[in-house]
Amino acid sequence: MTFKVPSVSDRLAKNQFVTDEEETHIHIDNSICTTQCPEKWCILACPAEVYSIQADGTTIAEAAACLECGTCLQVCTPGGLTWFYPRGGFGVTFMEG
Ligand code: SF4
Repeated sequence: MTFKVPSVSDRLAKNQFVTDEEETHIHIDNSICTTQCPEKWCILACPAEVYSIQADGTTIAEAAACLECGTCLQVCTPGGLTWFYPRGGFGVTFMEG
């Protein structure tokens, strides 16, 4: 009998997200982000690919896909990011631990 280990993307696809349409839990200060962080570490570090750069150079976040791991807070230039857990009833529910 063989057992196939599911890929990370297969496991992530089973998560469920409830989006808070009234209050996002990720706020980017682009006055800091665009002027003090040419590396954009959040884009490299985020496992959910929440962050992206627009044509005008500003960074945006697709907060609905956030896995609430907190990695972006660790790599962001101080002041560039405000992040808090979503309100109760919103955010990610992990379906595989
Ligand atoms: Fe990405 Fe984790 Fe930050 Fe959410 S908390 S935006 S998943 S790095």
